[in-house]
This record gives sequence, C-alpha cells and structure tokens, in this order.
Amino acid sequence: GGRPLVAPTPEKIAPVVLSIRETTDRLFRRAVSKGAITTGDMPEFLEACADGLAQSRTEIGRPGKLFGNPATPIAFEAALAVSALSLLRGDTIARLRICPNCSWLFVDKSRNSSRLWCDMAVCGNRQKANRYYRRRTAAREVTNV
Ligand SMILES: [Zn+2]
Repeated sequence: GGRPLVAPTPEKIAPVVLSIRETTDRLFRRAVSKGAITTGDMPEFLEACADGLAQSRTEIGRPGKLFGNPATPIAFEAALAVSALSLLRGDTIARLRICPNCSWLFVDKSRNSSRLWCDMAVCGNRQKANRYYRRRTAAREVTNV
C-alpha cells in the first residue's frame, strides 16, 4: 500500500479497468471453488490484463518495487493488471477466499491461512456485531420472561 496511483480518467479508462476487474473476478471465483485454474478460462483474463498494460512503460518487479518507482506513479489500469496477474501464482491460488459477508474475493495472507473475512475491520466486525446483537436480544427475551 501507500503507492500513489494515477487517477483514471473515467470515460477513457473505465472499460479496461472494468474488464480487468470482471475477468479477474470470474477466473478466480471459479478457482476458489475448484482449488485450481482452468486454462480455458484464462484467455479473456489475459487479454484484459494485456489491454491494461499496453500503454504503460513502467519498470516493474524490482525487489521492493513491484509497481515500479514510487516517485513516478504507474497508470491505474496497469497497476491493476500487474496485481491481477500476480494472483496466478500457485501459492496464491491456494489462499484465495470469498468473504462470507460481502462475497468479495480476497487473498488470505495470514500465516496459518485461517482468515475468514476480506477485511476484519469491515466484515469481521460487522459479523461480530450481529452475533453480539443476537446474543443481547436473546438475553433480553430470557430475562423478560
Ligand atoms: Zn467482506
């Protein structure tokens, strides 16, 4: 995090950004249920990523500089393509999850692969709050009897 991304010009960038997001979601959502990627599902994803990278001239992948030099922001659609492509690693596919609260796709980076929520601060706490609310409601019903 912390890297400045060039804000996309909506009318110009939106189609490629959308198609990267959609094909990424489709490919990896299927991968979560199978625990593997089907090669026939890859071309549309790779084409969307290629479109996102086509106009970019940033040098990526140097140690500590996955998205290039932080001083010269990489184009948003190119950064999106780079991070989507990085999901193709086998050890990452094994850690892909679908959040049971918001159904977002996320990578479980916890040491023991035990993360349940896309974001503990958002979905995890919401679930905890729901449980707490139900417990309190149940407790109140019991004490009112
Ligand atoms: Zn979530």
